[in-house]
Amino acid sequence: MSDCLFCKILNGDIPSTKVFEDEKIYVFKDIHPKADVHLLVIPRVHIARLDETGPEHADLLAHMMLSLPQIAKAQGLDDGFRSIINTGPGGGQEVDHLHIHILGGSSLPGFK
Ligand code: 5GP
Ligand code: ZN
Repeated sequence: MSDCLFCKILNGDIPSTKVFEDEKIYVFKDIHPKADVHLLVIPRVHIARLDETGPEHADLLAHMMLSLPQIAKAQGLDDGFRSIINTGPGGGQEVDHLHIHILGGSSLPGFK
């Protein structure tokens, strides 16, 4: 999608700090970190929201989920991490390209 912020990051039009990438996903640092470590895991294909996924995305979604522990460990999060998916305005989603937040480190805020 041409006007999607994260698609622009994917194709290099907007700079980002890459942490990991493979054939299906790209991982970069959040520009406004909410914790010592705050990463965004995005698919290379444009999918706007989690509630727009279906069975055809099962392999991709599994790949994203299964990649989280190794990405977190590579960032030094040996004690664990928090992962968040905001979906739609009701979930506080601001960028309409599916993403999983990885948060961790000593400054991780409480979550209620
Ligand atoms: P959401 O609220 O949609 O779940 O999360 C979007 C996230 O994208 C926010 O945490 C925000 O800080 C981050 N973000 C927004 N614009 C940019 C950007 O241009 N570069 C990077 N690296 N992160 C961004
Ligand atoms: Zn996109």
